Amino acid sequence: MIAVHGLTPAVLGPVLERLGAPPWRAAQVLDWVYRRETADPGSMATLPAALRQSLADELAGPAVEVAVRSVSGDGTRKLAVRLADGELVESVLIPDRHRLTLCISSQVGCAMGCRFCATARLGLRRHLRVEEIVGQVQLARAEVGREPFSAPGLTNLVFMGMGEPLHNLDALVPALEILSAPWGLGISPRRITVSTVGLVPQMHELLDRTGVNLAVSLTATTDEVRRDLMPIDRRWDLSDLLGACRALPLPRRRRITFEYVMLSGVNDSDEDARRLVSLLHGIRSKVNLIFFNPFPGAPFAPSPRARVESFQRLLLDRGVNATVRESRGSDVAAACGQLAAQGRAAEGARAGGGAETAPPANEQRAS
Ligand code: SF4
Repeated sequence: MIAVHGLTPAVLGPVLERLGAPPWRAAQVLDWVYRRETADPGSMATLPAALRQSLADELAGPAVEVAVRSVSGDGTRKLAVRLADGELVESVLIPDRHRLTLCISSQVGCAMGCRFCATARLGLRRHLRVEEIVGQVQLARAEVGREPFSAPGLTNLVFMGMGEPLHNLDALVPALEILSAPWGLGISPRRITVSTVGLVPQMHELLDRTGVNLAVSLTATTDEVRRDLMPIDRRWDLSDLLGACRALPLPRRRRITFEYVMLSGVNDSDEDARRLVSLLHGIRSKVNLIFFNPFPGAPFAPSPRARVESFQRLLLDRGVNATVRESRGSDVAAACGQLAAQGRAAEGARAGGGAETAPPANEQRAS
């Protein structure tokens, strides 16, 4: 069986040929699957009945389903997404005035071991497949029709959920093709951001093969601190990482976003801010300062708001574009890993079907 949300013209062509259907039927099938969000061949009304029946024997249905739905007081909606093998990942819909951003996962768990991230504690359980990445977007699109979203549809897509997307490049790149192609979901690559801890060779490959935006989790201004927070710094240190950023083939008028989780007394001093300015010199960049949301057993505390604001001011005064990412949906466990764990707990308690729930705690991730 072929996964319906992994379909591309290249995959579909030989299938149609084998079934004796003309090649132009491919555009109709893809239109049903991606634009009209119909995964069941039986409902593809523009196809002949015989072809519908044959396709039903060839295509496997969606690879993901909503296990638990959590709606925050601030409008953020989180989906614990169940995969065919019972694993759970998360997708988060974040409405913000004229935007509706979807944050999706690329792996079950994560191998990167960042100490400020609860997902790291799961370790890497497995990579997501193409259809599981695309399927999260299709699930989220179905949510948009539900209250309280007022946006006409998804406006932005970010790979900042569970997992390190560039560690799963073999599924990520084909998924990005489906998400952005005119025959697929048609989301402009300019509206898609892939976030990484800084896997240097894969950063190059991603920008060579796609036109999406890149976000890099920096979170420290010295290797000593970064190595302690993010094991990846032992493989590619700040000099490797920022040297690679300088050399990346950035499309015109694009910038790299540097994410920086503010940890009290660890990386939030004025000296850090000044060092950050000089580290980013010569890179078309903007800095996203992120409030740390503590999780049980977390060895860090969030920087006070006044500290975050003065850090931001110092960057702005020196010409560095810096924004502060407000915590969203923290009353329903704002980030990955913990949501999945809570999803499992909530799932155990429910009777069946997608449940509405509001888990209590929150957590943090930045890539
Ligand atoms: S911050 Fe990202 S890369 Fe680091 S452990 Fe968490 S999910 Fe993995």
